Amino acid sequence: MTDLHCYECRLPVTNDDIVCPDCQAVLVLYDEYPVLGVLRPASDNGIVYKARHRRLQVDLVVKQAPPRLAGYIRNEAKILQSLRRRLNFTPHVYDFREERTYTALVMDFIDGLTLDRVYPQQLWPAAEVGRFV
Ligand SMILES: [Zn+2]
Repeated sequence: MTDLHCYECRLPVTNDDIVCPDCQAVLVLYDEYPVLGVLRPASDNGIVYKARHRRLQVDLVVKQAPPRLAGYIRNEAKILQSLRRRLNFTPHVYDFREERTYTALVMDFIDGLTLDRVYPQQLWPAAEVGRFV
């Protein structure tokens, strides 16, 4: 699904690999973010990794989406940037990349439960969502 290769031995790896199956090297996204785990396995909608910023030593989320979802990722980046100015609890965006195979958003990893785990099967009306932003 991606052009992901091991940075040590250059063999192709799958999206769900955390270490190279051949040389066991930890995979590094964009030469900058060693992968710590897969938060959402690869699907038609992309993949979400937990990774680490090598220089800043902070945990990150790297969300990769296929070209058909590039607009959504671009909008998410813009919304997070605009909310960040008003709401300091929103994730900080560290990087945004548009490449041939994937559009990627790199942001803070915030540990905890997601809303869909806290309120399973809950649909969120716009007015309700507005309470959070
Ligand atoms: Zn390798």
